Amino acid sequence: MVSRVIPVDPFDLVIFGGTGDLARRKILPGLYRRFVAGQMPADSRIIGAARSEMDQAGYRQFVAEALREFIPDLRRAEGLSDFLGTIDYVAIDAQGDGGWAELAGRTRKDVVRAFYFSVAPALFGDLAERLHQHGITDASSRVVVEKPFGRDLATARDLNAVLARHFDETQIYRIDHYLGKETVQNLMAVRFANILFEPLWNSQFIDHVQITVAETVGVGGRGSYYDRSGAMRDMVQNHLMQLLCLIAMEPPYRFDPDAVRDEKLKVIRALDPVRPEDIVRGQYLANGQPGYLEDVENPASRTESYIALKVCISNWRWKGTPFYLRTGKRLRARTSEIAITFREPPHSIFEGEEGWKENVLVIRLQPNEGMNLRVMIKEPGPGGMRLTEVPLDMSFADALGETGADIPDAYERLIMDVIRGNQTLFMRGDEVEAAWAWADPVIEGWEARDDRPRGYDPGTSGPEDALMLLHRDGRRWREIRE
Ligand code: NAD
Repeated sequence: MVSRVIPVDPFDLVIFGGTGDLARRKILPGLYRRFVAGQMPADSRIIGAARSEMDQAGYRQFVAEALREFIPDLRRAEGLSDFLGTIDYVAIDAQGDGGWAELAGRTRKDVVRAFYFSVAPALFGDLAERLHQHGITDASSRVVVEKPFGRDLATARDLNAVLARHFDETQIYRIDHYLGKETVQNLMAVRFANILFEPLWNSQFIDHVQITVAETVGVGGRGSYYDRSGAMRDMVQNHLMQLLCLIAMEPPYRFDPDAVRDEKLKVIRALDPVRPEDIVRGQYLANGQPGYLEDVENPASRTESYIALKVCISNWRWKGTPFYLRTGKRLRARTSEIAITFREPPHSIFEGEEGWKENVLVIRLQPNEGMNLRVMIKEPGPGGMRLTEVPLDMSFADALGETGADIPDAYERLIMDVIRGNQTLFMRGDEVEAAWAWADPVIEGWEARDDRPRGYDPGTSGPEDALMLLHRDGRRWREIRE
């Protein structure tokens, strides 16, 4: 089964920050792939807008280089010159007057207009203001904003207010690229398009849920940025929270942006405050390579590169089923997964129960997006009834007959959704604020207690104390492996 491509309407997409890292690595390669797939109409235009003085030809060359660098299979350069034909550039100063009149002249009024704010959030207000002043946007225009959306509730509220001055909520697309992943969307399909799981999807049948996002890399070149953020702000408040919401939410009445986001918001509001004893923070140590403190060049840093926490949801569906979240850098393997562990059958008819294990539904985000359900069967052969586990495995690449390269990258899907005007996979302002309202007291708590992250060896599964978080509840973490 090859994915169906439905072309979007012709558009003008202005990428503020069009010479930046995100544009080079994700936005431009994503657009190119959609162009080659036939989804981006040839009469659409991509207009890079950034500080560097460059002309159209110079930016086209810049884009071609970015594609060569970030699309490994670009050898044949299929459609490259046609794609480059859609590219334009305007040198612009977000905080001054330079370039705005020119941009106004280059954008068309009769196509979908989208403005990607791929710049530091401090510039959102300036961009919104100038777009408005120069009459470049109207009520049908869309703006796309990136993470981080604030560093606490107060700053997130400020950003929402700055955008709300010139844009209605229906025009604002806050990206959380986790929501663009195929598996994450499949989570909704599996839950709400099958009768099989939903009756079991509650604390009566689910023992606990583990959400793991493990990275092998350290903070790399982002040291000083990361040190002001940490795993809680950088990963948990947004990405892991979104995953938790999709697992825990009630069925929306329709697959409609606000219906889905209303249900996610209710989950966030139902989260219990996290108790200090339910949080473990860590920093990777040096081990041949520099440790966290050296990487961020701050020997006194108390910022966590690892966090594990137990989160409880106070509502009818989930009371009594903890969600264990963990994410960290320099861990044993690069993997992201959600594991849903079901409870024991109420009564076993098999003596001794040798070999019995709980049913576990694992949703893999990376690598090899797919799902896997562990079920118990009889161990084959004579010699009595012994149980053994088998995985019912569904790798999306295998099941759909696609190679991994054919599954669109999260950015590709999300940008096309912006053009289509579908906000389902974007965070609404109140959702982001609710997530910060939950995260703020957690962060303030450890700041008030002067909490120091525990050191952990690179290549492991994190600090030892994180094991205790589950052991004391009679559970254990799943192994971190690819
Ligand atoms: P970057 O520093 O590489 O690029 C910044 C861009 O903004 C450049 O094109 C620069 O010309 C432009 N710019 C800066 N000041 C300007 C001004 N006054 N007027 C006009 N243009 C100006 O940044 P980046 O890594 O591409 O990140 C962009 C945004 O995306 C940031 O908000 C970042 O937090 C977010 N983000 C980035 C990544 C990533 O992987 N790089 C991932 C997630 C989110």
